Amino acid sequence: MLEGLNPSQREAVVHSGGPLLIVAGAGSGKTRVLTHRIAYLLGERGVHPGEVLAITFTNKAAAEMRERVEALIGPRARMMWVSTFHSACVRILRREHEHLGLPSSFTIYDADDSRRLMTQVARDLDLDVKRNPPRGLLAAVSALKNELVDHESARDAAESDREALIAEVYSVYQNRLIASRALDFDDLIMTTVNLFQAFPAVAESYRRRFRHVLVDEYQDTNQAQYVLVRELVGTSAASSPAGSGAPVTEDGPVPPAELCVVGDADQSIYAFRGATIRNILEFEADYPDAKTILLEQNYRSTQTILSAANAVIERNRGRKPKNLWTDSGQGEPIVGYVADSEHDEAAFVANEVDRLTDEGLAKPSDVAVFYRTNAQSRAFEECFIRVGLPYRVVGGVRFYERKEVKDVLAYLRALANPDDSVSLKRVINVPKRGIGDRAEAMLDALAARERISFGAAVDRADEAYGLAARSLNAVRGFAALMADLRGKVAEGAGPSEVLEAILERTGYLAELQESTDPQDESRAENLQELVAVAHEYEGAEGSEGVTGFLERVALVADADQLPDGGEGMITLMTLHTAKGLEFPVVFLTGLEEGVFPHTRALGNVQELEEERRLAYVGITRARQRLYFSRAVLRSAWGAPSYNPQSRFVEEVPQELITWEREAPAPSSTAFGTQTPALTASANKSRKTGFKSLGTSGREPVSVVPGDRVVHDTYGLGTVVAVEGRTGEHATVDFGSEGVRKLVLAFAPLQKL
Ligand code: ATP
Ligand code: MG
Repeated sequence: MLEGLNPSQREAVVHSGGPLLIVAGAGSGKTRVLTHRIAYLLGERGVHPGEVLAITFTNKAAAEMRERVEALIGPRARMMWVSTFHSACVRILRREHEHLGLPSSFTIYDADDSRRLMTQVARDLDLDVKRNPPRGLLAAVSALKNELVDHESARDAAESDREALIAEVYSVYQNRLIASRALDFDDLIMTTVNLFQAFPAVAESYRRRFRHVLVDEYQDTNQAQYVLVRELVGTSAASSPAGSGAPVTEDGPVPPAELCVVGDADQSIYAFRGATIRNILEFEADYPDAKTILLEQNYRSTQTILSAANAVIERNRGRKPKNLWTDSGQGEPIVGYVADSEHDEAAFVANEVDRLTDEGLAKPSDVAVFYRTNAQSRAFEECFIRVGLPYRVVGGVRFYERKEVKDVLAYLRALANPDDSVSLKRVINVPKRGIGDRAEAMLDALAARERISFGAAVDRADEAYGLAARSLNAVRGFAALMADLRGKVAEGAGPSEVLEAILERTGYLAELQESTDPQDESRAENLQELVAVAHEYEGAEGSEGVTGFLERVALVADADQLPDGGEGMITLMTLHTAKGLEFPVVFLTGLEEGVFPHTRALGNVQELEEERRLAYVGITRARQRLYFSRAVLRSAWGAPSYNPQSRFVEEVPQELITWEREAPAPSSTAFGTQTPALTASANKSRKTGFKSLGTSGREPVSVVPGDRVVHDTYGLGTVVAVEGRTGEHATVDFGSEGVRKLVLAFAPLQKL
């Protein structure tokens, strides 16, 4: 258990007693120490697995940690709680729901559901959505919840009109959540904290249970999570060291649990979600008897990669200098590439992966492509599809966020929790059954008048005023359908069986199957996939019916969609999602001012520093090879933009970078006069199919009605009409992205 650890790592693993903080740079083995520490606790110190609570940043990281511990100490490991903050809180809340007056089948609203609810709230409060976009309102409410401020306190503390407005929005939003018996993501943490503070005996019972609390990526915890950890660990008089192995008696106060947190202030990248480096910087002040261990050897990267990372992060002010080193040698230089366009950039990556694969230097699954924002994946996807490179996008529009999947899950949630109004409203007229906005408003009015939930109003539609006979019939039909399906759930049918019944009885599947839109076919396939997921869930250990299935689905995080090893696929992901991971080959793309660092951060010192930490995270994911690329011309939203090189590239000592292609002379970067499309590396490619890839300045495409096209932002579409004397405008139907009129000379459009 102590093998493969250096002396400092070992010290951290065997430390017993008071709180332990491990601070260290990227790749120094923090996560490894955490895993070994758990194994050591169970294997050597006689700790029972049920006494361990370990918090990771993603569910996937949790599963990995559990597996590794299991490999070290065997199946007993399964009794530990290893999970994200959110999953751990859900588990606690499901057990303790009665204290809070919640049903155990409460619904969890994800970001999309919360946005829907906030949109309804903004509408009902007659807010101007231009000046108060629901997204912004939600962010403001979320920030308050992350600070553990409830809506009453927010109202009392409001000092400006804006704050008063936010407090009012918060209060309406929160009351709707309560009426819907639903919690949003932030509530999961805040409610658990409230539970512990309002019911000390409950808190005490968890303290009695979890004698060891371990937290990975501690730099990204927010205030609410910080307090939660404190509540879980408990604080006795600061002087009394936590009695490891000291008997915990049934009566008498419980001594604090042993706490071990690991983190790196330089990798804090979630300030926009309320994370605060303070938690790590002031750990010693918060826990006076804390011990701090520094790890300085990096085992992940070459010296070149590490030097680049260090040079970048040193530009941030007010950080503690670190002395990270490696003995793995200089390694390859960083390869730089300046592309003409984002398409050329993608072609460069494809060529390079091809070269590495051909020369046996790497497999596609060794490669990760990072970008700042999700929208940037598209150029890579198009290119990789065309040349047949297998890839996987992590993040972006996730399976569980697809409309059809969300629709059907909303049915399932409305069945499990009849008061869940957001889910009910989502499906009340899907597929169309003649219950329009007006009818919905009448039901809303009934709910308000009778002080009942929207779901109860649906069941009592006869009492609604002004509901047309036809609508009333439709609502009755819907209520009967839901009652019927609910009967199935009550009889104990599993999620897959209930899902199948929903697909069939609501007519949802039939509608898709009868449609001639090819997209509907893939929608139907996605729903079949969902049923398959439910089947798989039922077969898994510890499955807990419909509610358990919904919970699992609600808590899937972006990084959880990572392919499970060796599938020969390139991984595409945003920098945020890459945290904690490592890859032999990393492409850092879009290194342009205004892209990365993000436009929003330009001119704001704090945000720039957060972007720089993101750059540090990105660079330090690489083990052997690192690439920097940027595009001279990038089309965003149909408008071309020219951005200078990212400052982060300039902050790296230039002798560490070998430029495969440098910026073309400034005069040649004007639109339409780029250097020839074929790049040096494209010429080197052995695959002839690659030759056409480097697209420089765009020739206006010529299209006729009926052509299938792909647009950088709107995706796949069909040309409906072409106008103008020489056919310079086209009207294109982009499906869910709408019908748009484009100027062909400027639109980032390609004919398929
Ligand atoms: P990050 O800050 O990126 O989360 P980390 O500090 O958690 O990084 P780990 O992921 O635990 O670092 O370790 C980085 C790599 O170094 C892993 O591949 C790990 O297996 C390896 N490693 C860590 N410690 C040792 C060691 N003592 N001997 C050999 N390899 C090690
Ligand atoms: Mg780690």
